[in-house]
Amino acid sequence: MSVPASTPLLDPVREAEEAALTGHSYGARGTAPAATHGSDHQSRADRFMVGTFVAVPLIAVAVAVPVAWGWGIGWTELALAVAFYVVASHGITIGFHRLFTHGSFKAKRWLKITLAIAGSLAIEGPVARWVADHRKHHAYSDDEGDPHSPWAFGDSAWGLTKGLWHAHTGWLFDVEQTPLQRYAPDLLKDKDIVRISRAFPLLVAVSLLLPALLGGLITWSWQGALLSFFWATLVRVALVHHVTWSINSVCHVWGKRPFKARDRSGNVAWLALLSAGESWHNLHHADPTCARHGVLKGQLDSSARVISWFEKLGWAWDVRWPKPERLAARRVDGQPSA
Ligand SMILES: [Zn+2]
Ligand SMILES: [Zn+2]
Repeated sequence: MSVPASTPLLDPVREAEEAALTGHSYGARGTAPAATHGSDHQSRADRFMVGTFVAVPLIAVAVAVPVAWGWGIGWTELALAVAFYVVASHGITIGFHRLFTHGSFKAKRWLKITLAIAGSLAIEGPVARWVADHRKHHAYSDDEGDPHSPWAFGDSAWGLTKGLWHAHTGWLFDVEQTPLQRYAPDLLKDKDIVRISRAFPLLVAVSLLLPALLGGLITWSWQGALLSFFWATLVRVALVHHVTWSINSVCHVWGKRPFKARDRSGNVAWLALLSAGESWHNLHHADPTCARHGVLKGQLDSSARVISWFEKLGWAWDVRWPKPERLAARRVDGQPSA
């Protein structure tokens, strides 16, 4: 099994199934407007930018321990880092993933815009690009055509080692990109989403600089600004990135599989808190449109909790909460779920 150089046509059976699950029809192939910052090919300059955004935060993590040892981490930096982490990661999980990719609920326009902006602060690419890649992942999960399967190089130890790197980070450098027109035509028709996708470089700048600005103002010092940039920008971005990528790598190799999925997705408990509930990935592949991923007893899912608050406040509706009979039908052992 290898990753094809060009995008093959979807398997018609899977296409129908995926369309039925997500409510999105993939439509015909076509050229995506450059305005959304993502054509079907990635240029050398794009790949250089991706490399910079992968490497620099990671280097920051490597020096985080000596920095913490020397200067320490103050309450200001810690609070800013946690706040920016929570906003950006839930922007990805609730916005990019459960709302825009899978249509797990409907949201008021201002909430939709807020979630698209919050997710952009995670610096994982513009919303339309993220959604297209993720829909393609579901369409082909762990099969030829999946943009980031750890099994792309086979089942051998060396193949899996290569595959884990590919699924975690390597796939970001693929020249061939998921065609937006085919996988996210609904988002390309949404003027708000196109505008936010276009504003991605500006939102990256905000995500990089706002923690430093706030840290500097709160402590009224250059040192406060610098330390906030280190912890609440660099270390926070690295953590958000690697937790998101772990869903693609770790959660497609390890974990429990209580639900029937057509791929190797697993439920990984130790990632649940940091991933805001996304590491219950076996259930997610078994029932992609479900708004709650941690459906079993005691499974932490902060994203589902926040969606339930949005629903209570009247900001979200038509939420696809898990239904006992639907879950039972997807259980490997056929047992009703708690
Ligand atoms: Zn997956
Ligand atoms: Zn998904």
